[in-house]
Amino acid sequence: MKLVVLGGGESGVGTAILGKKLNYEVFLSDFGAIKQQYQEVLNAHDLDWEEKQHTASRILDADLVVKSPGIPDKAPIIQKLIAKGISIISEIEFASKYSKVPTIGITGSNGKTTTTLLTHHVLKAADLNVGLAGNIGKSYAQQVAENGYDLFVLELSSFQLDGVFDYAPHIAVILNLSPDHLDRYHYNYEEYIDAKFRITRSQTEDDYLIYDADDVEIQKWFSKHETKAQKIPFSMTQEFEQGAFVKDGAINIIINNQKFTMPINELSLEGKHNVKNAMAATSVAQLLRIRKSTIRESLSNFQGVEHRLEKVLKIQNVQYINDSKATNVNATFFALDSMTTPTVWIVGGVDKGNDYAELMPLVREKVKAIVCLGVDNKKIIDAFKQVIDVIVETTDIETCVQVASKLSEPGDTVLLSPACASFDLFESYEDRGSKFKSAVQSL
Ligand code: ADP
Repeated sequence: MKLVVLGGGESGVGTAILGKKLNYEVFLSDFGAIKQQYQEVLNAHDLDWEEKQHTASRILDADLVVKSPGIPDKAPIIQKLIAKGISIISEIEFASKYSKVPTIGITGSNGKTTTTLLTHHVLKAADLNVGLAGNIGKSYAQQVAENGYDLFVLELSSFQLDGVFDYAPHIAVILNLSPDHLDRYHYNYEEYIDAKFRITRSQTEDDYLIYDADDVEIQKWFSKHETKAQKIPFSMTQEFEQGAFVKDGAINIIINNQKFTMPINELSLEGKHNVKNAMAATSVAQLLRIRKSTIRESLSNFQGVEHRLEKVLKIQNVQYINDSKATNVNATFFALDSMTTPTVWIVGGVDKGNDYAELMPLVREKVKAIVCLGVDNKKIIDAFKQVIDVIVETTDIETCVQVASKLSEPGDTVLLSPACASFDLFESYEDRGSKFKSAVQSL
């Protein structure tokens, strides 16, 4: 069997390694350059590969193609494969076929990484032999090839789910839905939503689907579609006989008549969105019958994730917070919502079709000044100039942080939560967050 792997990044290289182990005849091709580190891994495994080109004759000779989630369907080579009727799947689909252990699959527009790491943290604290993969860390395929885990927690993006057909997580989580990456879905929100729900398409009655019952789009989907999985809802406003909810300042999770409660102020992560993330992670833990004392301890000592509402430093009683990963309006909504002091808000970057209207009440209530950090800030200025008197434009992180520091007074917060992608001024959101932290440290 000839396996062609398109894309020589983390997932592609992992797939090639697993493919070889399974005796496929493997060829990996990347239209761009392959990082040195991956070239070395490919060579160490004696794999056949090419970069900066796609040799069509070899690719179109494949029995099966595994495509990196980064390659859009409109890429010419994909169009040719589709025309020839060659099956194209994702790394997750491929690796799950050959893995005998159950997975927990976590998706949503925001909160995937946080909830995946939190869930993994709780399960590890319970001494389960659990792996962590998907859109995070080392690829799932390579770990299936090399590690003997009993269970995996997988972070799944919509792009990864696009190429999923038979993959069925034992426990699926859909955290929330808000428009993102629509350029890959013909600017059709429904198509993006359907991609997310592929997570449940092959689940059976023995599986579970945990989801946000407050999310209008999720509710809409359920009104038109079925899932075989047992549904476990979570909510900030409704109560359930089976599910997770908030009551009297505590999270309550009732599953199989077992009830877990914990006051919200004992959760280590702050903000309403993290209450939801914690309810989702706890639902998983309850389904796996983890001891309550272990869940409680893990939820109170989880350290959080870099670049997500990360407290950097307090300088002259001004708290600096790095939320560089907030690359869409919904994530920034929850950041602003969790502010408890007057806030100098750093926003801007590459706009992905943002509608700032939903932020207006929070900005009015909490923001004292805006510092724009981006090449083109017109849309932000137009949106907020009626409600915020002080709006300053900057195009480098040092100036931006210095301006924010001047505009703040003791007791305030300086919040970097850009609501935009970072590529106009930075390599990535990680780069933006790290440079923000260095600039704060050198104030
Ligand atoms: P993802 O992996 O889905 O991008 P992250 O955990 O990296 O999610 O968080 C991305 C951004 O969204 C951060 O700014 C974070 O504070 C915010 N966020 C985290 N959880 C949620 C949630 N449940 N709803 C909305 N925003 C969230």
